[in-house]
Amino acid sequence: VETPRLNEFLGHLEGLEMSRQEAVLETFSRDESQLEAARPEVVIFAKSTQDVARCLMWANKFQIPVTPVGARSGKSGGSLCVAGGVALSLSRMDQVLNLNAIDRTLTAQPGVILDALKARAEQVGLWYPPDPNSAAWCTLGGTIAENAGGPCALKYGVTGHYVLSMEWVTPQGDIVRVGAQTHKGVAGYNLVQLFVGSEGTLGVCTEATLKLIPKPAHVITALFQFRSMAQALAMVSSAMTQGAWPRCVELLDETALRVAALPEIASTSQAVLIVECDGSDEAAVLSEMDLLRTLGLNSGALEPTVAQSAAQREAIWQVRRNVSLALKTLKRFKLSEDIVIPISRLAEAIESIKALGRSRGLLVATYGHAGDGNLHTNVLFDDPSERPTVEKLLTDIMKLTVDLGGTITGEHGVGSAKRAHLRLEQSPQVIDIQTKMKQLFDPKGILNPHKIF
Ligand SMILES: Cc1cc2nc3c(=O)[nH]c(=O)nc-3n(C[C@H](O)[C@H](O)[C@H](O)COP(=O)(O)OP(=O)(O)OC[C@H]3O[C@@H](n4cnc5c(N)ncnc54)[C@H](O)[C@@H]3O)c2cc1C
Repeated sequence: VETPRLNEFLGHLEGLEMSRQEAVLETFSRDESQLEAARPEVVIFAKSTQDVARCLMWANKFQIPVTPVGARSGKSGGSLCVAGGVALSLSRMDQVLNLNAIDRTLTAQPGVILDALKARAEQVGLWYPPDPNSAAWCTLGGTIAENAGGPCALKYGVTGHYVLSMEWVTPQGDIVRVGAQTHKGVAGYNLVQLFVGSEGTLGVCTEATLKLIPKPAHVITALFQFRSMAQALAMVSSAMTQGAWPRCVELLDETALRVAALPEIASTSQAVLIVECDGSDEAAVLSEMDLLRTLGLNSGALEPTVAQSAAQREAIWQVRRNVSLALKTLKRFKLSEDIVIPISRLAEAIESIKALGRSRGLLVATYGHAGDGNLHTNVLFDDPSERPTVEKLLTDIMKLTVDLGGTITGEHGVGSAKRAHLRLEQSPQVIDIQTKMKQLFDPKGILNPHKIF
């Protein structure tokens, strides 16, 4: 943005907290996508809905690009200011505004850290199930914008299933409320679900009311080890057909196992499933885990290790949450995808992805939410010169995913990272409908430009 235009725009925002310091701009130029850094020209820290509305109203008048930013834990480059302009941080708007135990709703600002929000609900015996593995640092606004999921999505669904209503600031700076505060509500088009997952391209979420559910009283976590990936996936398939409904079925392949410090892993193990059951009736939860044990043993698992305390459960999850970072101890760089494959074709998909990696001389680690088919395929490499080959392999993996009836992203969003791959999955007509919707909401294209399409 030309300096005089930017300065004139900023002149209208007196009183708002902002920074143009090098160190701050540098911090806001990166997220967890491993994409090239993209620097904003100014970072504005909104403290209220009015701050957001003022910023957008003047940005729209002066045609300044604005990118909403949560905690920058995103993996598709959604918060990167690829067109420069403003990084609009929502992190100062971090309050839980209301918790109504009778209505089972919680209203919060977008900058609240997800774990803090979940803890607040749990104080009154209620639960907000969405549990991305980044919950200790990602924000509610970021998870709404990405429609984030996590291990528990298998049984409890993703963020969008829990958003009842939202306060939303349009790219013109108008403040609107969509949805209803009640658990049901079908008046008009479902704008809540249009905004959920819109990756900060249609407006800025400044408040959300969420549905809560009773916190399950009993949880059991077990580790199943297998001598082959095929055995592990046979257990996943049989769990689906035999009536089990665990809340999580997380997979680690042999490469992920090499870096994950899980307890008591046999040297012969080539795949592990972390399986978790929950419910209000302890006997029913035990009986479900017993069924899963039988299915596991029938598929060739070793006797499962069952966590005996909350501390042991947490230790397992700590390792699982750390896999993404731990893989970097094998190779300096990794590009991570989050494809989703129909469960019935998961075994075929993983075998083909590994073979594609070998054919291009690259190591691929696969782990993730196997219970809903959402795999994190991580291409590992040491030398930046390998990047073009890595990109080719990623395109091969995306094509395979679509051919198998899957989707290119289950939770990280398209952002900047997967723009080129979207057309492998969606027809020109479908992309055209969506770009027209973007133009309707944001005719000047100021909000998070060059994302998704
Ligand atoms: C170790 C690790 C584990 C992860 N595990 C998971 C997982 O299990 N499941 C999962 O789904 N994701 C996971 N993620 C990805 C990431 O944490 C999620 O995408 C999360 O939703 C991003 O939240 P954030 O606050 O960091 O948003 P950011 O990264 O800052 O932004 C993400 C997008 O949201 C937009 N945005 C942010 N705030 C707003 C707002 N208030 N209004 C409108 N748009 C907004 C941004 O413009 C951007 O497009 C993981 C990431 C890491 C690093």
